[in-house]
Amino acid sequence: MLRPIPLLRRGFTTHSVKGFTGAVGSTPLIRLKGLSERTGCDILGKAEFQNPGGSVKDRAALGLVEHAERQGLLKPGGTVVEGTAGNTGIGLAHVCRAKGYKCVIYMPNTQSQEKIDLLRMLGADVRPVPAVAYENPKNYNHQAKEYAEATPNAIWTNQFDNTANAEFHFKTTGPEIWTQTGHKIDAFTCSTGTGGTLAGVARYLREVSNGKVKSYLADPPGSVLYSYITSGGKLTERSGSSITEGIGQGRITDNLGTEIKHLAGALQIPDEKSIKMVYEMLDTEGIYIGASSALNVVAAEELAKQLGPGKTIVTILCDGAYRYQSRLFSRQWLASKGLEKAIPEDLQKYIVL
Ligand code: PMP
Repeated sequence: MLRPIPLLRRGFTTHSVKGFTGAVGSTPLIRLKGLSERTGCDILGKAEFQNPGGSVKDRAALGLVEHAERQGLLKPGGTVVEGTAGNTGIGLAHVCRAKGYKCVIYMPNTQSQEKIDLLRMLGADVRPVPAVAYENPKNYNHQAKEYAEATPNAIWTNQFDNTANAEFHFKTTGPEIWTQTGHKIDAFTCSTGTGGTLAGVARYLREVSNGKVKSYLADPPGSVLYSYITSGGKLTERSGSSITEGIGQGRITDNLGTEIKHLAGALQIPDEKSIKMVYEMLDTEGIYIGASSALNVVAAEELAKQLGPGKTIVTILCDGAYRYQSRLFSRQWLASKGLEKAIPEDLQKYIVL
């Protein structure tokens, strides 16, 4: 006789969900055993790569589109336009197909070919443009805005400064983490592109715990936010760069807003540590994550060392490595970034390209 599968214990819901949009969120919280044992803390990764479009940005995409619908700005047959380095575009392309909207994506031409190909396969009209700074009117965000303004029945979702993005994390990701940890959580850390994930989750955890849960920014080189926080609010010029696609910021976005002032601190993670963690997570946990997720995990480990044993620290596993594998697992690419030596001898076997 077949025994019933203990559905709830395995993290399944007991009901079906409504289409693509119903499947966004409710991702598992994974205890990273190697790091937890090493630090004496519980280090937990929110598996956002399990969203139906494959990344944390499915949440922002859905939040932004639903907000526009509620405001009456997006009508049947309408067009959704965004400037995005990739994952928001993928989320938006899925949401638009599911809801019957057209999707136009402007992106810097420095992004990986896998992401561009996928967007096109999802039916989006992709427009790669030269990667110029935000201050330049030809920046991909400004071009997206201009196109939406010139197109009838089109909206610019404006992921950086439309706070419907952080709001969606406040309403979903934050409460999920609070429930999944059984309210036993000391700290949260994650990196920032738009700031939606960090600000939305940090604000929820701060408010629900009366300030007991502390949140920390995890930042790559080339972002100004680490020095902004550690200098007590001085905004410097952007300099340097990182292999971590989708994160790092040159300004205080509206999504980060005032929440940045409530952060307990910031950690800056060099690329050598992030790339090594991509390989380590694969080797010790069997989890295949992209570089921004790996940076988050390094930050969680460093935080564990700072805070001491016995703490529960949560971070975000933003997406899988699938979208970057031609880079992250290529010896030639690693060498071109000076990162070949960052991979320890025993993990070099994973460099297969
Ligand atoms: N990681 C990846 C891979 C991303 O694409 C993004 C978004 N650009 C982030 C992290 C950061 O998320 P957020 O925009 O919510 O700050």
